[in-house]
Amino acid sequence: MRTPKVRELGEALRSLFSKPYTVRYPYEPVIAPEAFRGKPKFIDEECIGCGACAQVCPARAIDVRDVVEGRSGVRTMTVHHDHCVFCGQCHRYCTTEEGIILTNEYETGTYDRNLAISSVDKELVVCQECGEVIATVDHLRWVARKLGAKAFGNMGLALLLSKDLGLVAPLTRDPERPLDRGDNISLLCPRCKREVILYEQWGP
Ligand code: SF4
Ligand code: SF4
Repeated sequence: MRTPKVRELGEALRSLFSKPYTVRYPYEPVIAPEAFRGKPKFIDEECIGCGACAQVCPARAIDVRDVVEGRSGVRTMTVHHDHCVFCGQCHRYCTTEEGIILTNEYETGTYDRNLAISSVDKELVVCQECGEVIATVDHLRWVARKLGAKAFGNMGLALLLSKDLGLVAPLTRDPERPLDRGDNISLLCPRCKREVILYEQWGP
């Protein structure tokens, strides 16, 4: 019985004169380990605005908001840190793999919940006939890069790539004229494309 008591006394004396094992947070910063799952953050150059992360988020912490004005628009993706459960699903299933990452920032306390966010804006591709959202410009560019030369087999992608190369000017249609086959060479949503094809087959 005496030996353990002496050992404990020795340990107590040693710890009196040695550095503490605990950290002095919040007076000193704590460096989180590399694999730490902290606040998710969008990476603008990698994110294509596809919205897949919002679909897999179990806490519904990611908003996808489209604002369309006329024939153009912007998609804003926002992750709310005060709703996030830091599961990492958004990063795991991100289409480009690095569009959203979990940083090693762990301080989520704030007096204003509206500031507990990370967001990214992406230009939208909108149907030139009805104004329906087709995708984001970056998403279509990403698909085109994956397809390589085959992208020119799709009219929407071909138009986008040609525009990027400065080869085409946007077409404007007289609203009085019904859709016809010529309008296939413009950015149309699937519903309007179908109308063009039906019109082609059966006429006005
Ligand atoms: S690219 Fe990744 S981060 Fe961006 S919207 Fe798609 S899934 Fe989310
Ligand atoms: S870490 Fe999980 S909860 Fe947080 S935004 Fe990503 S998917 Fe949603």
